[in-house]
Amino acid sequence: MSELALRAEKLDASDELAAKRREFVLDDVVYLDGNSLGALPVAVPGRVGDVVRREWGELRIRSWTESGWWTAPERIGDRIAPLVGAAAGQIVVGDSTSVNVFKALVGAVRLARETGPGRDEIVVDATTFPTNGYIAGSAARMTGCTLRPVAPSEVPGALGGRTAAVLLNHVDYRTGRLHDLPSLTAAVHAAGAPVVWDLCHSAGALPVGLDEHGVDLAVGCTYKYLNGGPGAPAFLYVRADLQDRFDSPLPGWNSHAEPFGMRAEYRPATGAPRGRVGTPDILSMLALEAALDVWDGVPVDAVRAKSLALTDFFLECVEAYVAEGRVACLTPRPHGERGSQVALRCEDAGEVMERLIGRGVVGDFRHPDVLRFGFTPLYVGFADVERAARVLAEVLEEVPV
Ligand SMILES: *Cc1c(COP(=O)(O)O)cnc(C)c1O
Repeated sequence: MSELALRAEKLDASDELAAKRREFVLDDVVYLDGNSLGALPVAVPGRVGDVVRREWGELRIRSWTESGWWTAPERIGDRIAPLVGAAAGQIVVGDSTSVNVFKALVGAVRLARETGPGRDEIVVDATTFPTNGYIAGSAARMTGCTLRPVAPSEVPGALGGRTAAVLLNHVDYRTGRLHDLPSLTAAVHAAGAPVVWDLCHSAGALPVGLDEHGVDLAVGCTYKYLNGGPGAPAFLYVRADLQDRFDSPLPGWNSHAEPFGMRAEYRPATGAPRGRVGTPDILSMLALEAALDVWDGVPVDAVRAKSLALTDFFLECVEAYVAEGRVACLTPRPHGERGSQVALRCEDAGEVMERLIGRGVVGDFRHPDVLRFGFTPLYVGFADVERAARVLAEVLEEVPV
């Protein structure tokens, strides 16, 4: 056994989260794609079966009240809250991340406009996940703003009296770079504007501290590190003191103060329900709720510590096994700048990833030349990491440049 394989064994033996893996449905594949679709928690199929057969099949319409369907969006929001450093009552679950980016960003522009005229620029991370850029463009057209895409490092210099709202990613989906949420939030606030953070690649992977850092609005995904299942509903955070002023661009009957009043005039609900739109997607939502049970008793700090240990160890194994110069690491080395994934730039990355998957190491390929490996501390171990790097080196030898 190699020195690195022995180290992996020792690290696994002293890993306080190691037992969590048994709470997931996994096989002998090394699954490093939990940043795209989290693995299935063992308890979910039974719960979904119960929701379908008993709650829907037997109780039917009664389940809206008797099975707690109606209150699920806020109840599940409160389960996510501690994972992102939010007190209860500020998160609602529902709709996709894309839709919530729209609600949050237009809502942010409307908040900024309350403080006076002249705020007519939406600043967006130029390297963002495409959907965020498209939606920010549309939000800008709708609100009479100009869209200003800037590199995250240049955001502070782009802010000023014209800034209406800023949309940023906590972790870059491609490179795995972690952005400095506290200091960027403070910079946006100093310019007098609200900030919207996208937590897709940080919720469930590292501490976020929404309340602590005074974030205004945030959105996040639940099918990545939160393991909610394909297309699981996203979440929207509106800070408590902003909720009464939050003017959603998608008011629906579900966010009405009196949803069953069936009134012609819209009057928004108070609190987190104001972020709702229409009827919640109950089956997905309750699958997510069951999936969140795996977090019981898991401190996010422990998840973060293991995540950094996993990515450090992966980088070390890649350096030891892969021929020098064959791949270039896009993910920053300093812990304070690293999310929970490692991105490697590599020629023929598409073919390399196909071969890796064929040999039981599942990551993903991002156009044009990026291999992405996501490290989900609840079910990835150090032996997985060593094997992934070893197989990567073998595959890279088969695919000459
Ligand atoms: C995954 C991801 C999304 C996904 O949006 P959907 O509406 O769920 O398809 C959005 N933004 C970022 C930054 C992401 O990483």
